[in-house]
Amino acid sequence: MYKQRILRQFSFSILLTMGLFTAVISLTLNSLWELKNSYNNLSNERLPRLSKTNTLHHQIERLITLSKSLTESKNEPERQITMSEIEGVLLGINRNVDTASNAFLSRQMSVLSREVNELNALIIDKIQSTGRLFEQEQHLVETISIATTERKLSALEQKKLTELLLHITQIHQQTRINKIRKIQSDISTLLKTFPSSSANNQVFDVLGEHLLEDTGYIQNKIESLRIIGRARGRGNFVANLVKDVANTLEFQSRKTMSESLKESAEVSRAIESITHTNTIIVLVSIVISLLAIYLLYKRIVLRLVDLSKDVELASNDEIDEVASSGNDEITKLADNVNNFLNKVKEQEKTLLALSRKDPLTGIANRRAFESTFESMMAQAKRQEWNLSLVLVDVDYFKKYNDEYGHAEGDACLRLVANQLNETLTRSTDFTARYGGEEFVCLLPNTNIDTAKKKTEDLIQAILQLDIPHSQSPHGRVTVSAGVATFPFNKTSNWPPETIIEQADKALYRAKDKGRNTMDAFKI
Ligand code: GH3
Ligand code: MG
Ligand code: MG
Repeated sequence: MYKQRILRQFSFSILLTMGLFTAVISLTLNSLWELKNSYNNLSNERLPRLSKTNTLHHQIERLITLSKSLTESKNEPERQITMSEIEGVLLGINRNVDTASNAFLSRQMSVLSREVNELNALIIDKIQSTGRLFEQEQHLVETISIATTERKLSALEQKKLTELLLHITQIHQQTRINKIRKIQSDISTLLKTFPSSSANNQVFDVLGEHLLEDTGYIQNKIESLRIIGRARGRGNFVANLVKDVANTLEFQSRKTMSESLKESAEVSRAIESITHTNTIIVLVSIVISLLAIYLLYKRIVLRLVDLSKDVELASNDEIDEVASSGNDEITKLADNVNNFLNKVKEQEKTLLALSRKDPLTGIANRRAFESTFESMMAQAKRQEWNLSLVLVDVDYFKKYNDEYGHAEGDACLRLVANQLNETLTRSTDFTARYGGEEFVCLLPNTNIDTAKKKTEDLIQAILQLDIPHSQSPHGRVTVSAGVATFPFNKTSNWPPETIIEQADKALYRAKDKGRNTMDAFKI
């Protein structure tokens, strides 16, 4: 059983090549898909985020300036305008910040918003307290002014009042609480030095109350300074918070930027690696395809070409069989061709044998005689020997047929033919039916004497068959023979007809001599 090796090898290499190309295509599609996702991510998410970050930077800078302005607001309209602008900016920031994805920033923004509100409340307090102080200062200055213009003050009272005015001015300008406490104690001492009997004592009492009591000017001044301090502190805190938010945003934008760069680098690396892999796979596929083509050429095309040449040579009988080696489809084909050629040869042999055989007698026919005669003449020329030809004719055969019938005639011819054939014992001698009741014998390398002797033997052999022939003067079936011997050499050029003609003439001479005898011709 032969193996379908070539079919399997080809199917395998084609499937392998197809598989490799499919892998290349799927890897390429995969890398293109990754590239598309990466660009989508960049254009839909990262770039808008980076552009928002830029807007946020401007808003934060504005917020820093506005929080400073709020802290330094001197009056209510100024505060209100600044505050409403701050609220607008905060709203804008909240809108631009992706608080959903950044919990820390979201917390920072709500703390900032709360702190801004508290700063605002402090600034309201500060403005109100500054306003109250201003009113108290106005009132004090007015009281002192009325006292100096409408009352008669002693020189000492005058001096002390001036001293008091000086202290009030110092408090007005003072920004440090401990200094104010010191001035407060000085004022207290100063007010105690007024004589209790003084007519103007009442004025000093009122001034003392305005200045020193819990809701008095000094206490209010201290409270106002505290509020201013707190407002400044809160303002700084807010400014720092804004800076923190700015830092967080900066960090976030750098993160986004670095993530984008990282992702781009990763995609680029992935594409590079896929390109590398694809190149290798394509090269491997090309090598496999080339191997498959080589295999096709070597194992099929070349062998089929050889097989075709062999079949042509075998058809021309130049070789016996086509080359066949291995165990595959082409070997099987070569084996089949050989079987077919053998069958054709056998049939050819059978046909040839049939075409050279006389159907009636079973010995060689005229056609076989002609080809054998030709080759024997050529051999005689090469060997430079004698070639003798004997024509044998049954005597009175027409009469035999007439007497015994055609079927008997046929049987007689068969007996005669066999007897002639068997009498010539040399393997190189040849007997054929020449036509009708005539036979021909070829005796290669036989001189005229030997040929005559052999012809005598043939005539005797037929006589000994003892076939009754009532219409013959011999009473039995006899034959007459004509012998022709030609001494061949390399230059001899006798045509076959000449040899036959001479033998035929000799045969007629034998007939004329009374039959059952022979005559010979020799050059
Ligand atoms: P001769 O002695 O001069 O040779 O006389 P013959 O009668 O033999 O010669 P002829 O040529 O007059 O007659 C030959 C006869 O041989 C005629 C023919 O009927 C017969 N003959 C030829 N071929 C066959 C054959 O195949 N079978 C039979 N039965 N007879 C044949
Ligand atoms: Mg005859
Ligand atoms: Mg005859």
